[in-house]
Amino acid sequence: MSNVRVRFAPSPTGALHIGGVRTALYNHLLARQMGGTFILRIEDTDQTRYVPGAEDYIKEALAWCGLTLDEGPEQGGDYGPYRQSDRKAIYQEHAQQLIANGKAYYAFDTPEELDARRETEKEAGNHNFRYDASTRGSMRNSESLTSAQVEQLLADKTPYTIRLKVPADEIVKITDLVRGEVQFQSKELDDKILLKTDGMPTYHLANIVDDHLMKITHVIRGEEWLPSTAHHVLLYRAFGWEATMPSFAHLPLILKPTGKGKLSKRDGVALGIPVFPLAWNGATEEESFTGFREFGFDPRAVVNFMALLGWNPGTEQELFSLDELVNAFSIEKIGKAGARFDFDKAKWFNQQYIMQSSDEELVAIVKPILAEKGISKDDAFLTVFVQLMKERVVVYSDFWDNGYYFFTEVQDYDEKNSRKKWKPENQGLFNELRGQLKTLETPDEATVEAAVKSFMEVNELGFGAVLPILRIGVTGTMQGPSIFAVMALLGMEEVDRRLEKAFTVFNSLKNG
Ligand code: GLU
Repeated sequence: MSNVRVRFAPSPTGALHIGGVRTALYNHLLARQMGGTFILRIEDTDQTRYVPGAEDYIKEALAWCGLTLDEGPEQGGDYGPYRQSDRKAIYQEHAQQLIANGKAYYAFDTPEELDARRETEKEAGNHNFRYDASTRGSMRNSESLTSAQVEQLLADKTPYTIRLKVPADEIVKITDLVRGEVQFQSKELDDKILLKTDGMPTYHLANIVDDHLMKITHVIRGEEWLPSTAHHVLLYRAFGWEATMPSFAHLPLILKPTGKGKLSKRDGVALGIPVFPLAWNGATEEESFTGFREFGFDPRAVVNFMALLGWNPGTEQELFSLDELVNAFSIEKIGKAGARFDFDKAKWFNQQYIMQSSDEELVAIVKPILAEKGISKDDAFLTVFVQLMKERVVVYSDFWDNGYYFFTEVQDYDEKNSRKKWKPENQGLFNELRGQLKTLETPDEATVEAAVKSFMEVNELGFGAVLPILRIGVTGTMQGPSIFAVMALLGMEEVDRRLEKAFTVFNSLKNG
């Protein structure tokens, strides 16, 4: 095993959006490529944003995508616990360490005092009050008060936060593996709270302490975290850990299907497309949404699609299995520009995976879809079904939506075409055809075809007069696989029943 150690560090604040899964994927790819370690760390220190069920959702989504973990709350490992709420004491110790070496300080300002100060500043025309090197001397903290005063306040159990003492004027530079050199000025940065009054760490403290203690070598995360990196570098410096600071790679934004603006969680519901891996059953309808899985996607297609949202192999190749991605992946080929979430492309990938799947695999996919409708069919029937439908489905749910008639009565007849094609005066002839078909015991596609063609010849009827009638009569629609194959699979009894019923429907449409 190499020393590459990467982590996916979601906060369990709700369902994991596609950008989050992509972050997990890229971390996973790097770990697997380098023979490293992929870690799941649950960043749940913000109790107010905690959503029950979110951690399970995250784990299920990773598992569905095939992203296996080496260390995590479930797997354990040498650097646990892996849930930040179980590491409180570690963060408190580390915050104290920074107090001791003068890199952080106690701040006793109450929320009311902070508000009042902000108001006074506003009145003086300063709308951006910042708690920093220029203002901390005029606030109530262990930098401005005497040590006797501080000791008294602590002895009185006065609530406090611990803040990072951001240097007045330093340049903070990082070499981001995606964005190149990025510079921040410390004078633009506030003295971030590291430990809150309730003793809980903020994201910044917990994240840095854990990345250090868990020996993380690469931090791969969304671009929205780039600004925080300045504080993170200062924290590494404050702890004296700069030499082992991880490398950073900030991933480009995922853009809306239009290419304009960041893809938001609400876009899924607004556009009727999934932007989450799995569905989420929220308390209200607005909080609920569908996922790629429920939409009928194969996880391999979703992984392939996500991999190319921001990364490119540098070749024309588009189809990649997870193993191929592991080989081909490189951080250098991650783009800086936002990646457009092209749902049609996602569907194209899915279609490719369906076409590549074996009949057995597709039968296994179709069975539970049918079981949900209370339908079960033998493998021989289902094998022919998937062969006939394979090239006509984009997502798995299409097997039912476009092929339900293989299993149950026709629900809708194509009215326009049946009106156009049905000639009541031909009903007698069609009834003769029914009789002829019924004499065929268990015909194959070719036998059905031969029987229909000889009927057409004898009665001098063209394809256009016969096939649409059979198609709509048996399946309700003009679309679909070879009608002779469908008829052969359904069997002649069923075909006869359906045609009899359809002719009645056609007549009433004609008269209606
Ligand atoms: N908890 C952060 C999140 O929810 C982690 C960001 C990071 O990877 O540092 O995305």
